[in-house]
Amino acid sequence: MIVELTKLDSPQIEFDLEIEPEKLGLDIEYVEVLKPVKFEGVLKSKKYWSVIEGDIAAKLRVSCGRCLEPIPLDLDFSFENAYIGAEDFTEERETDLAVENLDVSIIDSDKMDLSEIAGEQISIELNKPIVCKEDCKGLCQKCGTNLNKKDCKCDEGPGDSRWSALSDIKIKK
Ligand SMILES: [Zn+2]
Ligand SMILES: [Zn+2]
Repeated sequence: MIVELTKLDSPQIEFDLEIEPEKLGLDIEYVEVLKPVKFEGVLKSKKYWSVIEGDIAAKLRVSCGRCLEPIPLDLDFSFENAYIGAEDFTEERETDLAVENLDVSIIDSDKMDLSEIAGEQISIELNKPIVCKEDCKGLCQKCGTNLNKKDCKCDEGPGDSRWSALSDIKIKK
């Protein structure tokens, strides 16, 4: 859904959308959107900028940040973000927006694509660390073994007493 800010009939519009995954403009490796995304909220148009207060619910499949196994991820979050045209974004207004404690996105035109805005917010959520479980052991840095599934031998070398004796000799040289 594209909103033309200059053509709003009212300073505030409410919306309740279901967005098809391909309209989100999300193109992140290891992230799959399984169902249309629910996005409801309100767009408030202020003098120099617009504010969206929204709720997003999405069912995704992502990869664990440590072991890369695919895991289901249900997102359900709220956000508040201001949108301001590049030419309106003066230093003074930057300060005003900071005072209101708003996250800010700069937009090129007065057309806002709510589908892409939903995609942008989802990608911000995905910046947070995501793991399959609290104590995921991840992958071995050397051989790539998934350490949740089995152990590898990579870490055993330095602990072996025969080899530490050898390194003592080297130090004496
Ligand atoms: Zn994991
Ligand atoms: Zn290993």
